[in-house]
Amino acid sequence: MSKIIGIDLGTTNSCAAIATNGSVKLIPYKGGESIIPSIFAIDEKGNELIGHEAKRQWQLNPRNTVYASKRLIGRSYASDVVEQMKGQVAYGMKPGERNDVLLDVGNRNFRLAEISSKILGKIVSIAQDHLQEKVTRAVVTVPAYFSDRQRQAVKDAGKLVGLEVARIINEPTAAALAYGIGKNLHETVVIYDLGGGTFDVSIIEIRDRVFEVKATGGDIFLGGLDFDQAIIEHVLEQFSAQHKIDLSNDPVAMQRIKDLAERTKIDLSFRESARFSVPFVTMTPQGQPLNIDFTFTRKMLEELTGPLVDRTVVILERVLKDAGMTPQTVDQLLLVGGQTRMPCVQDRLTAMFGKPPSKGVHPDEAVAIGAALYGESLLDNSSLRLQLLDVLPMAIGIERAGGEFHTVFTRNAAIPNAKVIDATTSYDGQTEVAMRIFQGDNPEVSHNELLGDFLFSGLRAGPAGAAQLEITFNVSIEGILTMSARDVDTGKQMKTTVRVTQH
Ligand code: AMP
Repeated sequence: MSKIIGIDLGTTNSCAAIATNGSVKLIPYKGGESIIPSIFAIDEKGNELIGHEAKRQWQLNPRNTVYASKRLIGRSYASDVVEQMKGQVAYGMKPGERNDVLLDVGNRNFRLAEISSKILGKIVSIAQDHLQEKVTRAVVTVPAYFSDRQRQAVKDAGKLVGLEVARIINEPTAAALAYGIGKNLHETVVIYDLGGGTFDVSIIEIRDRVFEVKATGGDIFLGGLDFDQAIIEHVLEQFSAQHKIDLSNDPVAMQRIKDLAERTKIDLSFRESARFSVPFVTMTPQGQPLNIDFTFTRKMLEELTGPLVDRTVVILERVLKDAGMTPQTVDQLLLVGGQTRMPCVQDRLTAMFGKPPSKGVHPDEAVAIGAALYGESLLDNSSLRLQLLDVLPMAIGIERAGGEFHTVFTRNAAIPNAKVIDATTSYDGQTEVAMRIFQGDNPEVSHNELLGDFLFSGLRAGPAGAAQLEITFNVSIEGILTMSARDVDTGKQMKTTVRVTQH
């Protein structure tokens, strides 16, 4: 049986690891670095570039360089998120056949699962070079707050490159595994995971080898990229006030500003001020070169990004409440994700919990390490026995008359889980029953995400209300929903078709 590697498929960076006999190693790339940028590009000759190679040419080729595409996974083209992303990235997007998003790169169209599969493929090939053996299976992590559709897309991405995603686990849960395995712990931890693109928080009770998630929450559109964006917007405003020139339509200038915004943000985690200088960023209409040049202070950055940190705290407070806990009843606070290195994030949490965060996990590596350990535990001959009890991040339910959302599984329901609901026909001779399934926490379906429009067919025709059917909702340990229906009188399984998965 081949090994199972652990892959942290991040919005901005990815990382892989392998565990053998409970000891874990990160899988290094050529130069020894284990972080792989989650970037895909096509150069002017039509070559595909992935990871470091793609990042290196990013400034010069912004239109054909895809980054942060994880934010678009499982989204419909018409959604607000896609609209917002269009204003932030230089690559093109268009609607796909099912109203999903297609990326227009190097005059070719790519589905998002294809882009993820390119990155997964690169990680697998690096792992194969390093391990000197074929890698066909992986545990891949996703944000806890990923919906069913987004989880499904990650599985599909694996399939495209012949990688069996042996299990999808949640990023904060993976981090808790990295922290807790082998320490015989009995404690409750909060994982605050603020990465490049997403924010997750989970409260996990660790009882030696049992990891039980009590509650989870998050925002898959809140991460380091938004901190960069706050700087970018400030710079653009300042420049426009000074020179009456809008740089936002100049992709090369924007790329240079973006790069520097991230570097400045990171610098300000270590220093009180940093110079923000982009020489010859553009020209005046008279042909005179213009520069951006000013000093950014940590205080300015904190003011610009304060609202983002506030949003994480609101989510954190809700998750604590869902778990029936307070900051005082939590044993440890673990910080995961590069953005948690920002001092004001740490200060805010230290004040809230009355103690500093644990140093027990590495913010960039914990997720891949936890995934690798879980991968090892799935091997037939493994002596590493783990039990993971996770929860659903958002409720799943059906549409009732008037667009009302009827909850089948509540938010934070334990998974795996199954529920059966009864249904009947509403008119004479009806042989099919349709049902729309949504995921989200709003009482109206229109504010939740459509997971599928299910059609159960093959019912015996009869008068209205005569037929009885049982519809089973199954949520797997990975948080993925499958549906089936049975005619109660005949015991016959009905045919289930998903008619629409996008809206
Ligand atoms: P991750 O997805 O965990 O790799 O997190 C990447 C995000 O963390 C990016 O947005 C980085 O800009 C950000 N980041 C990395 N190091 C630092 C730092 N020292 N201070 C602030 N943000 C950082």
